[in-house]
Amino acid sequence: MSFNSLGLSDALLKAIEKKGYTKASPIQEKAIPVVLDRKDVLASAQTGTGKTAGFTLPILQILSKEPKYRKRPVRALILTPTRELAAQILDNVNAYSEFLDLRSMVVFGGVNANPQIRALRNGVDILVATPGRLLDLHQQNALSLSRIEILVLDEADRMLDMGFQRDINRILALLPDKRQNLLFSATFSKEIKKLASGILRNPVSIEAAPENTTAEKIDQKMYRVDKSKKTALVVKLISEGDWKQVLIFTRTKHGANRLSEKLVKNGITAAAIHGNKSQGARTKALAGFKQNKIRVLVATDIAARGLDIPLLPHVINYELPNISEDYVHRIGRTGRAGASGEAISLVGQDEVSYVQGIEKLLGLKLPKETIEGYEPTFTIDTKPVLKNKQSGKSTSRRNKNYNRGRKR
Ligand code: AMP
Repeated sequence: MSFNSLGLSDALLKAIEKKGYTKASPIQEKAIPVVLDRKDVLASAQTGTGKTAGFTLPILQILSKEPKYRKRPVRALILTPTRELAAQILDNVNAYSEFLDLRSMVVFGGVNANPQIRALRNGVDILVATPGRLLDLHQQNALSLSRIEILVLDEADRMLDMGFQRDINRILALLPDKRQNLLFSATFSKEIKKLASGILRNPVSIEAAPENTTAEKIDQKMYRVDKSKKTALVVKLISEGDWKQVLIFTRTKHGANRLSEKLVKNGITAAAIHGNKSQGARTKALAGFKQNKIRVLVATDIAARGLDIPLLPHVINYELPNISEDYVHRIGRTGRAGASGEAISLVGQDEVSYVQGIEKLLGLKLPKETIEGYEPTFTIDTKPVLKNKQSGKSTSRRNKNYNRGRKR
């Protein structure tokens, strides 16, 4: 569907045209009219579906049509789990509001708060924030949240995974009761459903992809390989395939550093991105990757969350995530905005139970292959995945409980 029939103003259509979008994505087609209608929204959408424009465009339209307050209090608050995602959303907001008289800014932790405090003093209509820094700034009286009209919880599942539930509750208590709420999540656990029912009023449910399923256009493969041969196999796949832009996931920060160093030693430009890296180093690595100066970005789940890398052709799971939902998030980095992509997982002997959890969550069996010269010394049980008989719980849930509280 073209953007023209969604009820957006000329100023927004002009910005969309400048971005080069010709058609609204399914989530945009569904979300934009509903948000313009001032309804609450519960949206199931992964990164890569165009969800950011799906909520940003109508918010900009709503705010630009309202009379402005002299002091410009924050009227729309977009909460996101990570700094990178927050920065990316602001980039989107800025691009779409180019022809409107609206001010936006982003606040996140890990950087000096003083410039943020100074900027907030000038007034801002739309604030993109991570929960912790937002609360810090509020405590310091750097901003008021009493005029919020629209609240967006983006990647709500990840915010809960990262332990932001309490911060979110504290933020909600600071907001006016009468407001519009939009909640976006890639997966829908019991916790997310509970959060949604506590916040949303008569929400319209919107789905961009079926619940807990992976985009159809992603070609998913699993290679069985011994742990000791994983790095050599990665080097082979990237070199022989002549892959130019590859995102690799590791389970730990240390593992990300180690793999990145080994790739560089093998003549493949690479950088690691994870929570121990400074904001500057993370931004630089991401920029280098986007500009094709770095072929491989090695990331942990949290660092990679929401990275906006258009048309990423290859994702490799160097290690499988022990939380099955993370697999869905990871491979969501490929096959973006309608392009096809490939997600490869290297499965070691100790990761077989993760495969079962993932297949259970996806409701499908994934092909498991071996590569000549890298044949494993173990096999994977290929029986259909059934519910765990003893607990009745799915494997993914068991993994989640087992790993609760771990750090990435
Ligand atoms: P998102 O899911 O919001 O992170 O968006 C994923 C990517 O798709 C971003 O690079 C957007 O700039 C891009 N995008 C969003 N909407 C469209 C559209 N209608 N047509 C083409 N690309 C889009």
